[in-house]
Amino acid sequence: MPNYIKINKKEIETIYDSIKEYHERYLKKEGIKMPNLYNEQGKFVKDGLVLVYLARGYPKTGKVSKKELTQFIRAFYPDVNDVQQARHLGAQKGWWIAAGGRNNMVLELKRGFYKLHTLEKPYPGFKKGHRISSTKNWEKIKDKYNYRCATCGSKEGEKHFHWPGTKTKLQKAHKDPNKPLKDINIIPQCQKCNRADRNRWVYDSKGRVIKLADPSFVKNFGKDVKRKIYKILYKEFKSKKPK
Ligand SMILES: [Zn+2]
Repeated sequence: MPNYIKINKKEIETIYDSIKEYHERYLKKEGIKMPNLYNEQGKFVKDGLVLVYLARGYPKTGKVSKKELTQFIRAFYPDVNDVQQARHLGAQKGWWIAAGGRNNMVLELKRGFYKLHTLEKPYPGFKKGHRISSTKNWEKIKDKYNYRCATCGSKEGEKHFHWPGTKTKLQKAHKDPNKPLKDINIIPQCQKCNRADRNRWVYDSKGRVIKLADPSFVKNFGKDVKRKIYKILYKEFKSKKPK
């Protein structure tokens, strides 16, 4: 028995059309794009399907688990393992789909659950022309990250993801602490992720550690790792004395 509600092609089209009406009226002017329902091959588009599934019974929508959504999509795309569409349609594409877990204080959803909140307003913090190429000022940079810490995802002004008693403040953080704090070297990080001891690391634009910035931190490494590093350096510098 499938754990999702089956909807036939005609029902899918009807729900899609009603979403489209709301979109025309409220969301288009906010810069939100309406996904297609069919692709060029006449197959359903996943974004369209996910929206339709979440919008069933609108405005009285229900909570939908990621598992349920995945099973629904599998009826059309049997090889799908992990349906990310609901999350992307939300924070990134501007549809107000609440996702359970992180900083979700509006709807009290559990992690792994989604709920279409409204078709009359965009996702909070979503702005027109969301994708920007030049990052000239701090507001624009934060907007690009949806006002979240690049590293831990905590949202500005809301409860911190790891420390619920702390309100998240975003700070201009270095990607590479050895380079100047210019726009190109800035990622937004919360006050927890941007602590001074993090100057040890170089981050990429997704807030992931990619390099060591402070060589003295090698002293904190385990003996086994130190030995391996030493071997690499010994080979590279051919055992020459350091200058
Ligand atoms: Zn953080």
